[in-house]
Amino acid sequence: MQAKPQLQGLPSYKPGKPIEEVKKELGLTKVVKLASNENPYGASPLAAKAISEAASQTAIYPDGYAAVIREKVATKIGVEQNQLIFGNGSDEVIQFLCRAFLSPETNTVTADPTFSQYKLNATIEGAEVREVPCVEGVHDLDAMLKAIDENTRIIWVCNPNNPSGTYVSQEAFTSFLERVPSHVLVVSDEAYFEYVTASDYPETLPLLEKYENLMILRTFSKAYGLAALRVGYGVANPALISLLDPVRPPFNNTTFAHVAAVASLEDDKFISSCVKKNTAALKQFEKFCQTHKLKYYPSQTNFILIDFNRSGDEVFDYLLKKGFIVRSGEALGFPTCVRITVGTDEENQELFSVLEELLVSKAVEQ
Ligand SMILES: *Cc1c(COP(=O)(O)O)cnc(C)c1O
Repeated sequence: MQAKPQLQGLPSYKPGKPIEEVKKELGLTKVVKLASNENPYGASPLAAKAISEAASQTAIYPDGYAAVIREKVATKIGVEQNQLIFGNGSDEVIQFLCRAFLSPETNTVTADPTFSQYKLNATIEGAEVREVPCVEGVHDLDAMLKAIDENTRIIWVCNPNNPSGTYVSQEAFTSFLERVPSHVLVVSDEAYFEYVTASDYPETLPLLEKYENLMILRTFSKAYGLAALRVGYGVANPALISLLDPVRPPFNNTTFAHVAAVASLEDDKFISSCVKKNTAALKQFEKFCQTHKLKYYPSQTNFILIDFNRSGDEVFDYLLKKGFIVRSGEALGFPTCVRITVGTDEENQELFSVLEELLVSKAVEQ
């Protein structure tokens, strides 16, 4: 057998540790997972209701065209139905894009550090990945532009960026788009769109009219709380969508994912209440960092990257023993940081006091 050479030694994705595994390993009864930027309040109750109502439909294939959710999303965000492509999570749309655009003769430009799936999928396609260092966690769009050549096919803007939570402004993004050559597809990955509060965050949908080389990615996994169901989508001009559609497996979303996502779109109140609580909690995280003189990256998301000025793994291990699963920055490109998903108020307060213990003990050591 001979697989693609680029698969040799390619690491598989290391997800946040599952709660049950941690409980068993450490003999803990209560474990809080603040590792994968999931919604701590779950999803709209309408989602579970829709799933139970559809529970008898297991024998029938889902609607491969995703007609109902397509119509719903198109209306919600104000685009035509033929401007949408649905994926099994936006992760799958990233995979479609790499399959459709990348090959060994091509290259792709990403920020570094950024979301790992761009590089992984590009590598599998054999493309060269040009990683351009972030400045203070923010994409260096000018340097990214300079990395483009005639073989560049996709440039990725993770906005807000995961794992830093920072964002690129409307002004910076439009000036960048203006300068990207038309043979390069620009992907604006907006997985945390609903959580953004910055007034100068780019409004990308209206830009689709002018820029045929723009694709926007959104997901139901984060603020909508449907990570288990795997629904994300891409928005672009109809020609780009038709080009990608044959790459998509015919029944890539389940019926249950469709009905739950559709129902969730009816519940704006749920989203706005989650976002409000998240924004307030983020302020408390910032205050905590300021009080303890910890550097943090200002976040527009439901997570925050904090620099503990010591190995991220060490802080991770400490928190794990106390029943909190977070993400060490070591694997995320910020070795002295930890990425923490914003939890419920109760979870956050508990986390703060546990972290305080660590910081006090460190102060004593010095
Ligand atoms: C979570 C995340 C995604 C993927 O979400 P799906 O669950 O696959 O929809 C995509 N991009 C970024 C930046 C993310 O953080």
